[in-house]
Amino acid sequence: MAESATAMGDDMVEQKKQTVAVVGAGVVGAAIAFELQSRGLQVTLIDKGEPGRGTSYGNMASIALDFAAGSGPTTWRKMPAWLLDPEGPVWLRPAYAVKILPWFLRFLAAGRPSRLREIEDAGMSLSRNALSDFRAMLSAIDAPELMTEEGCLAIYETEAEFAADRGHIDLMRRYGFDFDVVSGGDLRALEPALSPSIAKAVLLPDNKSIRDPYDLVVRLADCARAHGATFVSGAVRNIEKSGDGTAVVLLDNGERVSADSVILAAGVHTRVLAEKLGEPIPLETERGYHTQIMKPGVSMRYSVIWPHRAFMITPTAGGIRVGGNVELAGLDAAPDFRRARVLVRHARRAIPDLKVEETSEWMGHRPALPDTIPIISPSSKMQGVWYATGHGHLGLTYSATTAQLIADMVTGKRPTVDVKPFRIDRY
Ligand SMILES: Cc1cc2nc3c(=O)[nH]c(=O)nc-3n(C[C@H](O)[C@H](O)[C@H](O)COP(=O)(O)OP(=O)(O)OC[C@H]3O[C@@H](n4cnc5c(N)ncnc54)[C@H](O)[C@@H]3O)c2cc1C
Repeated sequence: MAESATAMGDDMVEQKKQTVAVVGAGVVGAAIAFELQSRGLQVTLIDKGEPGRGTSYGNMASIALDFAAGSGPTTWRKMPAWLLDPEGPVWLRPAYAVKILPWFLRFLAAGRPSRLREIEDAGMSLSRNALSDFRAMLSAIDAPELMTEEGCLAIYETEAEFAADRGHIDLMRRYGFDFDVVSGGDLRALEPALSPSIAKAVLLPDNKSIRDPYDLVVRLADCARAHGATFVSGAVRNIEKSGDGTAVVLLDNGERVSADSVILAAGVHTRVLAEKLGEPIPLETERGYHTQIMKPGVSMRYSVIWPHRAFMITPTAGGIRVGGNVELAGLDAAPDFRRARVLVRHARRAIPDLKVEETSEWMGHRPALPDTIPIISPSSKMQGVWYATGHGHLGLTYSATTAQLIADMVTGKRPTVDVKPFRIDRY
């Protein structure tokens, strides 16, 4: 008798659980699903593929706290040369030029000095929490070893390159980031793999990296499931409201998932779903490439970013990864892996002993908004729907903090960061 009363009590508690459907199991969606399930909500995580196989699979693994995107006058000045240089960091496919023009003009406009400062402040409000939130997330999934404790080296071949990156140094000073300028023997002692031709570097001790970004997503999704979340495989095509006020997620395979709240975290594909809800967002793909070098023949302690060439070299669990680049070519064009090979050539200039044997190449779609800061926001059209998208170059970095903010908003708690700058209705 007592036993059945307890069982009934548990059932009643179960029934009261707030239900949430999270659309998209990339690093952003998986982090949100894990956080909400840990806070006692009943989560259904939905993805058209397997968790972690989207853009979150192949990023450069960097918790890049100091990286404020935004365009700005420096970008404006450099852009023509970048676009004309076939080995430069930005590549525009001519066939896509007209299509992307409106987005590109908004991107340039977001760099006007007054707006740029707002964007930097907003980005830095996330960066300030990113490392501690990330550590807490890794500890909660029992995977602290996924983060390396080494930092990142921003490298410069010449004094002119260093001078051209002065804006970055100013930004780090302004926002109080630790950094140290190193050169000569000190630099060689820190990272013996670097070529003597690298004149100078800035050591960013707090820019940690993740040994395997794909493994991170898999473990987040697995831990969410271990805490009681369910995973549904299928492509979401729309969200509707039912008569009782709950949201219904409609899948291509005819399945329907009802929930009190729905979080749209489908990376660049969130654009299509937002359009269907009547709130179009200017979400573009900034395509990027990597080459994973399984037998690099050299070991590295630090991740390395070369600002002048806008790419990274990261030691990962599966060898050395070389990647970065921005290609503006839309969602459907086939990858052009010449972009990845250019970066490997640049990498060998920085790390001369790098052997390029046993490699795999990859291309992914950064979900990019023209003002370069994400949307972390309730929908302005449908109550109970939330967005977590548009993280651009920093989706890994901001994933744990985004999960905190969304979970706070969904559970009615005051978020620890001012979320106004990330609202969807800024568009
Ligand atoms: C070359 C490169 C290097 C990068 N380096 C870094 C870095 O060092 N540090 C950093 O912080 N960031 C980096 N980024 C950016 C980062 O990878 C992205 O911002 C991040 O992965 C975006 O995560 P997401 O979860 O929003 O999207 P995704 O990982 O793309 O996940 C979206 C998921 O939604 C699913 N989905 C899409 N549509 C639907 C649908 N209709 N129904 C169901 N499921 C759907 C997809 O299958 C996918 O699994 C890099 C990106 C690139 C390309």
